[in-house]
Amino acid sequence: MAASVSSSSHLNKTVRQHYMSLPQRDKCLVTYIWIDGTGEGLRNKTRTLDREPKGIADIPEWNFDGSSTSQSDRKDSDLYLIPVCMFRDPFTLDPNKLVLCEVLTCDRKPAAKNHRASCNQVMEKVKDYDLWFGMEQEYTLLGLDGRPFSWPSNGYPEAQGPYYCAVGANKSYGRDIMECHYKACLYAGVKIYGTNAEVMPSQWEFQVGTCQGIEIGDHLWVARFLLHRVCEDFGVVASLDPKPMAGDWNGAGCHTNVSTNQMREDNGLDYITEAIDKLSKRHPEHIRLYDPHEGRDNIRRLTGQHETANINTFTHGVAHRGSSIRIPRETFDQKKGYFEDRRPSANCDPYSVIEVIATTCLLDSEVKQESK
Ligand code: ADP
Ligand code: MN
Ligand code: MN
Ligand code: MN
Repeated sequence: MAASVSSSSHLNKTVRQHYMSLPQRDKCLVTYIWIDGTGEGLRNKTRTLDREPKGIADIPEWNFDGSSTSQSDRKDSDLYLIPVCMFRDPFTLDPNKLVLCEVLTCDRKPAAKNHRASCNQVMEKVKDYDLWFGMEQEYTLLGLDGRPFSWPSNGYPEAQGPYYCAVGANKSYGRDIMECHYKACLYAGVKIYGTNAEVMPSQWEFQVGTCQGIEIGDHLWVARFLLHRVCEDFGVVASLDPKPMAGDWNGAGCHTNVSTNQMREDNGLDYITEAIDKLSKRHPEHIRLYDPHEGRDNIRRLTGQHETANINTFTHGVAHRGSSIRIPRETFDQKKGYFEDRRPSANCDPYSVIEVIATTCLLDSEVKQESK
């Protein structure tokens, strides 16, 4: 993050309104969104269609220069953008669209960091279980100077305690972002479930869900795009780093809530216990897939402090927020419901997370066979 901020970096946003209200003469803007070669960054570019697409099939494939996104080399740099999920555009408004894309190479194989393709195959295999997911995206607002938004430039705010779900100018930092992002998600058609202020000041959470299968990944990635785009309008940055401030400050995760049809039915708790048992045997593999750097990001967050379990140990418990897997109190009492995997990092790829959860919990025997 740049340490100094240019004095010419602010545009007059009231002027913009005039142009935004000009008619579009029946044309439609479609903004293609994709995950870049870092596995964390999002890219986007826009083109004009002659009419409003009514569904994903009406949006043509496109391409981009993969050598500029760390996804291909310079000699053979064209990559394909394959539209997979369409949303309304809350920035330029109807009839304009946002479209999330998968990235394919020139021989139409999944490009680097396209984890959606393999995830989709696993979701197909387990579709009889009717998997539901909800993901809790925590994030931290930063100023362009890289410091958490509204923190003193040469010091720290009062220690953690008063900020979680707080109200008041001295306790709630950056609520505008949260509210504008929420409305943008609803307008777009992203399944946003709720939101809350987090334990560290300037840290927030929104939840996406409850979604079926691959849909959680699609909606979470677009919710992230909307967050970065809203923040851009306000001149702040949303960081998904799992531990933006070292020391006695909470990190940021992406708790993943999971259920199958069997877990949601009477005595489904038995199936939850079985899934937790399987998860306990594959902890290191899950940790490798729960951040984009094989656990090296999450190691700063999963310390055993600040409502986390230590990265090297697998634990579970009812209503226990210091464990790897938490069974919600209500699920335990009703003997049916869902479980929460608290390990994924805020910057995880949701496709990788749900792929490995589904594989471990539901395709266990198949995995063992493959590794023989
Ligand atoms: P927490 O108490 O851990 O902070 P939140 O209220 O932030 O939980 O989020 C709850 C999440 O659980 C939501 O994303 C929601 O979609 C998800 N969820 C609720 N019921 C189910 C279910 N049966 N299966 C999977 N996910 C679920
Ligand atoms: Mn939550
Ligand atoms: Mn939280
Ligand atoms: Mn949670």
